[in-house]
Amino acid sequence: MNRHERYAAILNYFRKERPVAETELEYTNPYELLVAVILSAQCTDKRVNLTTPHLFERYPTVFELATATSDDIFPLIRSISYPNNKAKHLAGMARKLVDDFGGEVPASIDALQTLPGVGRKTANVVASVVFNMPAMAVDTHVFRVSARLGLTVRAKNPLQAEKQLVKYIPESDIAMAHHWLILHGRYTCLARTPKCETCGITSHCQYFEKKAGKKKSVKKRPVKLKKPESKGRT
Ligand code: SF4
Repeated sequence: MNRHERYAAILNYFRKERPVAETELEYTNPYELLVAVILSAQCTDKRVNLTTPHLFERYPTVFELATATSDDIFPLIRSISYPNNKAKHLAGMARKLVDDFGGEVPASIDALQTLPGVGRKTANVVASVVFNMPAMAVDTHVFRVSARLGLTVRAKNPLQAEKQLVKYIPESDIAMAHHWLILHGRYTCLARTPKCETCGITSHCQYFEKKAGKKKSVKKRPVKLKKPESKGRT
């Protein structure tokens, strides 16, 4: 199976099995999604969804958040990983969004990345989810699952993986493929123990092919027969 065939088979599988896939972060507008994605770095979506209602109650729009200091924000997000840094990022992001963009989340990956706390992955998530742009956000799940499946080859970092993925995935599928790979990584292709026995794409997966090949090549070791014990003199 060459790379194009592998991509086609895997995308077809997801199109059929998971026609609708979307972020598990809860939000009602671009501002809330941006905040939620910043908070989700190294943290579960579940934990973020438990935290953001209180935060948005206190700061319903970016204009209110822009008046807050990181000390104001910290107690509201303390149960999330890296609350100190994230509180600083949220305060800085809100001020810049108000000062430089009139409070509107910009529809440009480069502009998004000028905001504190917004790296390439966060910018790509916002661009694809809010603006439906063909942007592939590579998080830890996407990176791992793509490598195991053989969609990426020897990618050393998320940017290299992103470049390979967008080269082969049709533009119209890129935003959805991001969710397909994340959800597959979160629920089936787990980091430590992938659930290959319940996975529907074993026949297109390079990791599985190698694993199955290794099992076959393990030769049975010849059983050594014990020498009969000498009975000695009678
Ligand atoms: S077969 Fe196993 S390693 Fe391959 S994608 Fe499925 S769960 Fe992951």
